[in-house]
Amino acid sequence: MAYNKNNIFAKILSGDAPAIKIAETEEVLAFMDIMPAAPGHCLVIPKFPAEDIFSLPENWTSKLICETQRIAVAVKKALDCAGIVILQLNGEAAGQTVFHIHFHIIPRSANDAPPTLHGRKMVEANELQPIADKIITQLNGD
Ligand code: AMP
Repeated sequence: MAYNKNNIFAKILSGDAPAIKIAETEEVLAFMDIMPAAPGHCLVIPKFPAEDIFSLPENWTSKLICETQRIAVAVKKALDCAGIVILQLNGEAAGQTVFHIHFHIIPRSANDAPPTLHGRKMVEANELQPIADKIITQLNGD
Protein backbone atom coordinates (compact mmCIF):
# COMPACT_ATOMS: atom_id res chain seq x y z
CA MET A 1 0.00 0.00 0.00
CA ALA A 2 1.35 3.47 -0.87
CA TYR A 3 1.67 6.11 1.83
CA ASN A 4 -1.40 8.35 1.94
CA LYS A 5 -0.27 11.84 2.88
CA ASN A 6 -3.80 12.77 3.98
CA ASN A 7 -3.75 10.46 7.00
CA ILE A 8 -4.43 12.13 10.34
CA PHE A 9 -0.86 11.79 11.64
CA ALA A 10 0.52 13.43 8.48
CA LYS A 11 -1.90 16.29 9.16
CA ILE A 12 -0.68 16.52 12.75
CA LEU A 13 2.92 16.66 11.47
CA SER A 14 2.08 19.40 8.97
CA GLY A 15 0.16 21.38 11.59
CA ASP A 16 -3.15 20.90 9.77
CA ALA A 17 -4.64 18.90 12.66
CA PRO A 18 -4.26 19.54 16.39
CA ALA A 19 -2.45 17.28 18.85
CA ILE A 20 -1.47 17.40 22.49
CA LYS A 21 2.25 17.14 21.99
CA ILE A 22 4.59 15.86 24.65
CA ALA A 23 7.93 15.79 22.82
CA GLU A 24 9.30 16.83 19.47
CA THR A 25 12.72 16.41 17.88
CA GLU A 26 13.83 17.00 14.29
CA GLU A 27 12.90 13.41 13.50
CA VAL A 28 10.19 12.29 15.92
CA LEU A 29 6.94 13.56 17.47
CA ALA A 30 5.15 12.19 20.54
CA PHE A 31 1.59 13.14 21.48
CA MET A 32 -1.38 11.95 23.51
CA ASP A 33 -3.71 9.34 22.00
CA ILE A 34 -7.13 10.93 21.63
CA MET A 35 -8.93 7.64 22.47
CA PRO A 36 -6.68 6.27 25.19
CA ALA A 37 -6.73 2.59 26.10
CA ALA A 38 -5.58 3.81 29.55
CA PRO A 39 -4.78 7.21 31.06
CA GLY A 40 -1.35 8.29 29.78
CA HIS A 41 -1.65 6.40 26.47
CA CYS A 42 0.55 8.21 23.98
CA LEU A 43 1.91 7.71 20.49
CA VAL A 44 5.35 8.19 18.98
CA ILE A 45 5.73 8.80 15.23
CA PRO A 46 8.61 9.53 12.86
CA LYS A 47 8.62 12.63 10.67
CA PHE A 48 9.05 10.30 7.74
CA PRO A 49 6.20 9.23 5.46
CA ALA A 50 6.11 5.48 6.11
CA GLU A 51 2.86 3.61 6.64
CA ASP A 52 4.34 0.69 8.57
CA ILE A 53 7.49 -1.08 9.79
CA PHE A 54 8.07 -2.56 6.34
CA SER A 55 8.53 0.81 4.70
CA LEU A 56 10.53 2.65 7.37
CA PRO A 57 14.26 3.00 6.62
CA GLU A 58 16.46 1.41 9.29
CA ASN A 59 18.06 4.66 10.45
CA TRP A 60 14.57 6.04 11.13
CA THR A 61 13.58 2.88 13.01
CA SER A 62 16.40 3.34 15.47
CA LYS A 63 15.50 6.99 16.08
CA LEU A 64 11.86 6.07 16.57
CA ILE A 65 12.56 3.23 18.99
CA CYS A 66 15.07 5.23 21.03
CA GLU A 67 12.57 8.06 21.40
CA THR A 68 9.82 5.56 22.28
CA GLN A 69 12.04 4.24 25.07
CA ARG A 70 12.74 7.77 26.36
CA ILE A 71 9.03 8.62 26.40
CA ALA A 72 8.09 5.27 28.02
CA VAL A 73 10.50 5.95 30.88
CA ALA A 74 8.92 9.39 31.41
CA VAL A 75 5.37 7.99 31.21
CA LYS A 76 6.18 5.31 33.80
CA LYS A 77 7.49 7.95 36.22
CA ALA A 78 4.72 10.45 35.47
CA LEU A 79 1.86 7.97 35.91
CA ASP A 80 3.67 5.92 38.56
CA CYS A 81 2.26 2.82 36.84
CA ALA A 82 3.24 -0.79 37.47
CA GLY A 83 4.00 -1.53 33.82
CA ILE A 84 3.97 -0.21 30.27
CA VAL A 85 2.77 -1.94 27.13
CA ILE A 86 4.47 -0.88 23.90
CA LEU A 87 2.44 -1.79 20.82
CA GLN A 88 3.10 -1.31 17.14
CA LEU A 89 0.59 -2.60 14.57
CA ASN A 90 1.29 -3.22 10.87
CA GLY A 91 -1.56 -3.58 8.41
CA GLU A 92 -5.31 -3.75 8.73
CA ALA A 93 -5.07 -7.45 9.56
CA ALA A 94 -3.00 -6.53 12.61
CA GLY A 95 -5.52 -3.90 13.71
CA GLN A 96 -3.72 -0.83 12.36
CA THR A 97 -6.16 2.02 11.73
CA VAL A 98 -3.85 4.99 11.01
CA PHE A 99 -1.39 4.30 8.23
CA HIS A 100 1.57 6.33 9.41
CA ILE A 101 3.82 4.11 11.51
CA HIS A 102 3.54 4.68 15.25
CA PHE A 103 4.37 3.12 18.58
CA HIS A 104 1.73 3.05 21.32
CA ILE A 105 2.86 3.55 24.92
CA ILE A 106 0.13 2.28 27.28
CA PRO A 107 0.45 2.41 31.09
CA ARG A 108 -0.79 -0.63 33.04
CA SER A 109 -1.70 -1.05 36.70
CA ALA A 110 -0.98 -4.20 38.67
CA ASN A 111 -4.50 -5.64 38.47
CA ASP A 112 -5.40 -4.48 34.96
CA ALA A 113 -6.78 -7.02 32.52
CA PRO A 114 -4.65 -7.46 29.39
CA PRO A 115 -4.83 -4.23 27.35
CA THR A 116 -7.32 -3.79 24.54
CA LEU A 117 -5.77 -2.66 21.27
CA HIS A 118 -7.75 0.57 21.18
CA GLY A 119 -9.70 2.83 23.47
CA ARG A 120 -13.28 3.45 22.42
CA LYS A 121 -14.04 6.84 23.86
CA MET A 122 -12.70 10.17 22.68
CA VAL A 123 -11.19 12.14 25.57
CA GLU A 124 -11.29 15.94 25.63
CA ALA A 125 -8.11 18.00 25.44
CA ASN A 126 -8.74 19.45 28.90
CA GLU A 127 -8.53 15.93 30.37
CA LEU A 128 -5.47 14.91 28.35
CA GLN A 129 -3.45 18.09 28.88
CA PRO A 130 -2.78 17.67 32.65
CA ILE A 131 -1.48 14.12 31.99
CA ALA A 132 0.66 15.40 29.12
CA ASP A 133 2.04 18.10 31.44
CA LYS A 134 3.09 15.46 33.99
CA ILE A 135 4.93 13.51 31.25
CA ILE A 136 6.58 16.69 29.96
CA THR A 137 7.76 17.48 33.49
CA GLN A 138 9.45 14.08 33.66
CA LEU A 139 10.99 14.54 30.21
CA ASN A 140 12.41 17.86 31.35
CA GLY A 141 13.85 16.16 34.42
CA ASP A 142 12.05 18.56 36.79
P1 AMP B 1 -3.52 1.98 15.27
O1 AMP B 1 -4.78 1.21 15.30
O2 AMP B 1 -2.32 1.25 15.81
O3 AMP B 1 -3.28 2.53 13.88
O4 AMP B 1 -3.71 3.18 16.26
C1 AMP B 1 -4.14 4.45 15.90
C2 AMP B 1 -4.32 5.22 17.17
O5 AMP B 1 -4.41 6.59 16.84
C3 AMP B 1 -5.58 4.87 17.97
O6 AMP B 1 -5.20 4.50 19.29
C4 AMP B 1 -6.39 6.17 17.95
O7 AMP B 1 -7.07 6.39 19.15
C5 AMP B 1 -5.31 7.21 17.71
N1 AMP B 1 -5.75 8.43 17.05
C6 AMP B 1 -6.53 8.53 15.94
N2 AMP B 1 -6.68 9.84 15.61
C7 AMP B 1 -5.98 10.56 16.50
C8 AMP B 1 -5.75 11.95 16.70
N3 AMP B 1 -6.27 12.87 15.90
N4 AMP B 1 -4.97 12.34 17.73
C9 AMP B 1 -4.43 11.42 18.56
N5 AMP B 1 -4.62 10.09 18.44
C10 AMP B 1 -5.38 9.67 17.43
